[in-house]
Amino acid sequence: MTRDIAIDGPSGSGKTSVGLRVAAELELMLVDSGLLYRVFTAAYVEQFPSDDGLQSDHLLGILKRRVTYESSGRVLFDGCVLQLSLHDPRVDSLVSPVSAVPRVRETVNRELRRIALLQDVVMVGRDIGTTVLPKAFLKVFIAAEPDVRARRRVAQLKCQGIAADYEAVLANIKERDAIDSSREDSPLRCTEEYVRLDNSADGSDGVVQAILSEYCRRLEHAV
Ligand code: C5P
Repeated sequence: MTRDIAIDGPSGSGKTSVGLRVAAELELMLVDSGLLYRVFTAAYVEQFPSDDGLQSDHLLGILKRRVTYESSGRVLFDGCVLQLSLHDPRVDSLVSPVSAVPRVRETVNRELRRIALLQDVVMVGRDIGTTVLPKAFLKVFIAAEPDVRARRRVAQLKCQGIAADYEAVLANIKERDAIDSSREDSPLRCTEEYVRLDNSADGSDGVVQAILSEYCRRLEHAV
């Protein structure tokens, strides 16, 4: 029986930092699925900088190239690290439309499931518990208020040396929430199988502890 933990939630809810801490405590690999959607999007932006909107023939060409998620969390496109930051605002603007394309989701899911077959993982995303790993041992949905999420994203971008305007980041977060929750193919949703936790407060100690306690409780009762 696998002991995978699926952590889903909207942009900037803090699920990746929570996932990192949970993975470190349990000595499991953290897989941030958003990075795979971001790498295809960044490759698109790099190769077709003057495209006005998303052109599906260009996108399908990019999907033929190999993307690899390394255990360090580094993501390679055709064996190389892309020049463009995966968190560049141009990637933020295009990543949700790119992720709504079913062929993109199939390609990403294949890579995610390949990794999860090799070891137990803590996997973070939007549809991990509903679609990618529907038999995950524990499914957690992390929520946080949009203004808190926008503030966190601005701080993260600043740490990476990327200038960010709070209002623009908030608008992008709300737009991505709307696209991610309403798309036809595996939308973001919190079903009854999830443990729902609110991560609006600063520091995520309570959320991390709640996940670890629930994981241990389930382990004790597992057959
Ligand atoms: O988590 P992050 O914000 O880096 O994800 C970037 C985008 O990738 C999301 O806004 C969403 O559109 C897409 N995504 C997804 N399914 C996942 C992970 C991310 O559609 N499992």
